Amino acid sequence: MSDNNATIELKEITKDFKNTKVIDQLNLKVAAGEFLVLLGPSGCGKSTTLRMIAGLESVSNGEVLIDGDDLKKKANDGHTIAMVFQDYALYPNMTVYQNLEYALKVHKVAKDERQKRLESILETLNLSDYRDRLPSELSGGQKQRVALGRGMAKKSKIFLLDEPLSNIDVQLREKARDEIQSLHDRNKQTIVYVTHDQLEAMALGDRIAVMNDGIIQMVDTPENIYKNPTNLFVAKFIGTPQINVLPVWYQDGYLTMDETKLVKLDRINSIDPKDYLLGVRPEHIKVSKNSESEFSVPTKVTKIVDYGRYIQLTLDLNGQHVIKAVTKDIDCKIDDTVFIRIDERTSIIFDKDSQKNIYWDRV
Ligand code: ADP
Repeated sequence: MSDNNATIELKEITKDFKNTKVIDQLNLKVAAGEFLVLLGPSGCGKSTTLRMIAGLESVSNGEVLIDGDDLKKKANDGHTIAMVFQDYALYPNMTVYQNLEYALKVHKVAKDERQKRLESILETLNLSDYRDRLPSELSGGQKQRVALGRGMAKKSKIFLLDEPLSNIDVQLREKARDEIQSLHDRNKQTIVYVTHDQLEAMALGDRIAVMNDGIIQMVDTPENIYKNPTNLFVAKFIGTPQINVLPVWYQDGYLTMDETKLVKLDRINSIDPKDYLLGVRPEHIKVSKNSESEFSVPTKVTKIVDYGRYIQLTLDLNGQHVIKAVTKDIDCKIDDTVFIRIDERTSIIFDKDSQKNIYWDRV
């Protein structure tokens, strides 16, 4: 336990709206001072989970514990939890400055301290010129920055953010993201941050909890989620362009596709001879103009996009499979034949039926 932060524990949480279960037996522990991102597609239950941590939504079953204690004792004490809402929730009759100041006044933060905190927030969020405006006189992005600033000003032990950057212009978004990051570095608050944007999640989270259909699929560091996703859903949700998924057959140490040997498996002794799905990220497909090994497979270039830092190729394999590859440097044009190679170390193999990563419980 610390003055700056608190632990959060969700134990077997279930949430029903009328007869629909939107959260199903969710367990999650957030360490004191951790930055945890809840990531998943729209409608998967992220906001509902966050609102239950804030005490704004009741749980149908299960427990929310803050520093090991029942949430109810802490939810409204003014310094344990702050939340930034996706729809801003600003007071319409108060100016920007008054909106930022209100909670601090209510919780009796001294005037000098209030001014000091707010001047720095106005400055970092580019809001100094708008301090006397009403919310109705602000753009969506400006309102969102005020909402963010209001949450920052409270210096609470737990800071909950629901898609706080979704309406902010791209240029300012990166700055606001950096500001949230450095706020966390400075204050060591416990942060739970909801987003559907995997890049934001990868950039910010100490750990990411990937959700789908009210169930947490995986909680781990960004690196482990990228390298060793538990299942196909997680693999597809992280990474752009999306991971390639190829139908393969395993036999006698090799993964084959349409009778062509793609990968030799040395890492595991043996798996059942049957259908699998082979996941390979576009940046792990090796592309060359010539066949370089017995595992090189010819493909036809159908699209080339040069992003400057890298080139993205769309490749056609036998007229049956589309493969995306990202490469630094290749001299090719549409309709050329290029060869691809897939390395065992960067291959992720999924059981075709369960869609689980077969390496997951072996490492
Ligand atoms: P996310 O934040 O991941 O987009 P939400 O937590 O907002 O997802 O919503 C999860 C599911 O719960 C959705 O299907 C949504 O329609 C439903 N839901 C959310 N709030 C309510 C409510 N107050 N009444 C009924 N259904 C709701």
